[in-house]
Amino acid sequence: MELRQPSSLAELDGADGLALAGGTDLVPLLRDGLVEAETLVDVRAVVPRGIDGGTIGAGTTLAELEVDPESPQALREACALAASPQLRSMGTIGGNLLQATRCWYWRLKYPCFLHGGSTCHARQGAHREHAIFGNEHCASAHPSDPAAALLSLGTTLRTDRRELPLADLYRLPTEDDRDVTALEPGELILELEVPKPEASTYLKAMDRTRFTFALVGVAAARFGSETKIALAGVAPIPWLLESADDLDRATPLPGTAYKVDLARALVRRALDALA
Ligand SMILES: Cc1cc2nc3c(=O)[nH]c(=O)nc-3n(C[C@H](O)[C@H](O)[C@H](O)COP(=O)(O)OP(=O)(O)OC[C@H]3O[C@@H](n4cnc5c(N)ncnc54)[C@H](O)[C@@H]3O)c2cc1C
Ligand code: SF4
Repeated sequence: MELRQPSSLAELDGADGLALAGGTDLVPLLRDGLVEAETLVDVRAVVPRGIDGGTIGAGTTLAELEVDPESPQALREACALAASPQLRSMGTIGGNLLQATRCWYWRLKYPCFLHGGSTCHARQGAHREHAIFGNEHCASAHPSDPAAALLSLGTTLRTDRRELPLADLYRLPTEDDRDVTALEPGELILELEVPKPEASTYLKAMDRTRFTFALVGVAAARFGSETKIALAGVAPIPWLLESADDLDRATPLPGTAYKVDLARALVRRALDALA
């Protein structure tokens, strides 16, 4: 395997290869044979790092975001509640948005729907941590806390090719396309543009108080008379609610019905906090 270390975007010049940022997700996936690459491109000198008002470099670490006084509270809280201090020091926000599912069937290489097969093993098998929305083909639960926060904040991404709302980065896997993001091969996320809300918060229900993925994460952000709510851990992608009533339309599996109640309670608390 070749490792390239370009010092600028110009030097990268559209060359093929898989982006490597902090490596906290990608390196284990390569080690376990879940991802294969002939060329890795260390993008740390290419992707901007740092926070300038509402503009966040995709190479900024979660540790840097969680203590930034200018960043919205929901984003700071989501970063502070993610992973462990060591992982937050290495893990970048760009890599966090693109981390792979934690579904153990997928991680154990079961030939499931997301791997291109015809069955979702989790639907019949162990699925307590899985989805309550968008789970027709794949019932995985998106693991990113910051993605839910950024979705509630109405974030826009700038890549090396285009601008797109964060909401358009994600899509549910279909028969024809098993990918859960709309990024093109080799496309790099460079910056995030994060609107400033009047108030925002992120709440996370976990099996432990630290260092574990969300059973349900709820982000809420208030802009004038409008409040946006987004959830982590409830669908194969971060999930935007039109309103709290959307929870009535959840499609839980037998083992995930409890998540609907959890989400209801957290949404209520989050809205109370913003009020
Ligand atoms: C044990 C453990 C616990 C965790 N717990 C949580 C948790 O509770 N909550 C949570 O939200 N996250 C959690 N995480 C995920 C962690 O936050 C991510 O692994 C990390 O943020 C990924 O960032 P990275 O820079 O290391 O990405 P990498 O591992 O380098 O890359 C991840 C993916 O993103 C791609 N990529 C990276 N940067 C870019 C870019 N700029 N443009 C395009 N593609 C890019 C890579 O090609 C790869 O596909 C956990 C991870 C681990 C290992
Ligand atoms: S939930 Fe998704 S990733 Fe997990 S087994 Fe089902 S199809 Fe595969």
